[in-house]
Amino acid sequence: MSRNAESTAFRSALDVIRAVEPRVADAIGAELTDQRESLKLIASENYASPATLLAMGNWFSDKYAEGTVGRRFYAGCQNVDTVEALAAEHARELFGATHAYVQPHSGIDANLVAFWAILADRVESPALKKAQARHVNDLTEADWFALRRELGDQRMLGMSLDAGGHLTHGFRPNISGKMFDQRSYGTDPATGLIDYDKVAEAAREFRPLILVAGYSAYPRKVNFRIMREIADSVGATFMVDMAHFAGLVAGKVFTGDFDPVPHAHIVTTTTHKSLRGPRGGMVLCGPELADQVDRGCPMVLGGPLPHVMAAKAVALAEARRPDFADYAQRIVDNAQALADGLLRRGATLVTGGTDNHLVLIDVSGYGLTGRQAEQALLDSGIVTNRNAVPQDPNGAWYTSGIRIGTPALTTRGLGATEMDATAELIHTVLSQTTAGTGPDGAASKAKYVLDPAVAEQVGKQAADLLAPFPLYPTVDLT
Ligand SMILES: *Cc1c(COP(=O)(O)O)cnc(C)c1O
Repeated sequence: MSRNAESTAFRSALDVIRAVEPRVADAIGAELTDQRESLKLIASENYASPATLLAMGNWFSDKYAEGTVGRRFYAGCQNVDTVEALAAEHARELFGATHAYVQPHSGIDANLVAFWAILADRVESPALKKAQARHVNDLTEADWFALRRELGDQRMLGMSLDAGGHLTHGFRPNISGKMFDQRSYGTDPATGLIDYDKVAEAAREFRPLILVAGYSAYPRKVNFRIMREIADSVGATFMVDMAHFAGLVAGKVFTGDFDPVPHAHIVTTTTHKSLRGPRGGMVLCGPELADQVDRGCPMVLGGPLPHVMAAKAVALAEARRPDFADYAQRIVDNAQALADGLLRRGATLVTGGTDNHLVLIDVSGYGLTGRQAEQALLDSGIVTNRNAVPQDPNGAWYTSGIRIGTPALTTRGLGATEMDATAELIHTVLSQTTAGTGPDGAASKAKYVLDPAVAEQVGKQAADLLAPFPLYPTVDLT
């Protein structure tokens, strides 16, 4: 692929957009500039390839394609069938799954598809059988009301939010928390690690229909073989949400007990985090749940996004190439280098380190809240996000943690040397920032003081660090 083809493609696209609404074209161009200039350590973000991005901007967007490949409720879906089948095939091959459903628009949507597939399989189907009905429309009013009540009376056990679990794993602000009676398992306060005996104990007491594993902010591997044994011991369906670490599974960094696909009944993921694809979601499962999963649209999803499925097919094809395994290994090596660099400079890390793509700094050691640390780093050109730490005294809004991840910088090509330099920059900012006070002189959880000269100096150093690793080097918009 010549440098020229990609530049020409994006430049021409922007010219076409500019002719209609120039401010949109300008914003798209400005976004590229911003992404190029920031040291992006957001653990859930990445940079999709030009081919993946271009696969989304076309007339597939115009097509309705409710249904599944070869069985649509709309006519004329033969080309959508081609890309959906390709995306599913690449997903099955990449992850060694028997079934892949590539329609979910996001990770949250993938989880909803999975929850309702499990509910349909384990609650609705037996109820239909008992009533000797083939379809929910054939149930009597009384049986239908009883079924609805039963569907709403199921239990889920997932990882607690402050230990790194996700809002969609049964927490009240999310619809999953309104659907399920939820309990969570946390981590051992001494080590910060999942205590599988405690998970087993909670499962025995609570008897959940669904046991969920997966996280957004847990910096360690999870043993999915043990989790499956726990699920089996109480008759729970074992679901893994690998939204964050799907790239590490795809790249065979997580294998054996740490690969969720052979152990879980059902696996959900996003496609845009470490997997480096378009913004979207996906569900993998065995034959038992496949038919229910395929009902995701219109059960909980709006019409599929064929342009995004096309981009998923492209990104998954990329992830099947040997260099993706190398990329995945470098993500983890970089996270370890970053963790080591921070530890050597005296930072406190949740669990004392990492064995995946992310590091969680407990910034209370610097006398800061997560919110203060996040803003001070941002002032210095370093993009991170605040995140609760286990038993966080500052709650979910201010927090005491900073979550950093390496998938994006690894895509740019930064390595261990640059990670150590990044650790130095982070440590400099955090150790030079002090908590501010409110108008009454009391300690503030939001205000902070950082000498602008320090922020500027660190910002320059961050830019110098990025300079040898241009983002989208084949794309020149000038
Ligand atoms: C990011 C994430 C999601 C949600 O993904 P969206 O695409 O934003 O809906 C779900 N689960 C986990 C564990 C995540 O990290």
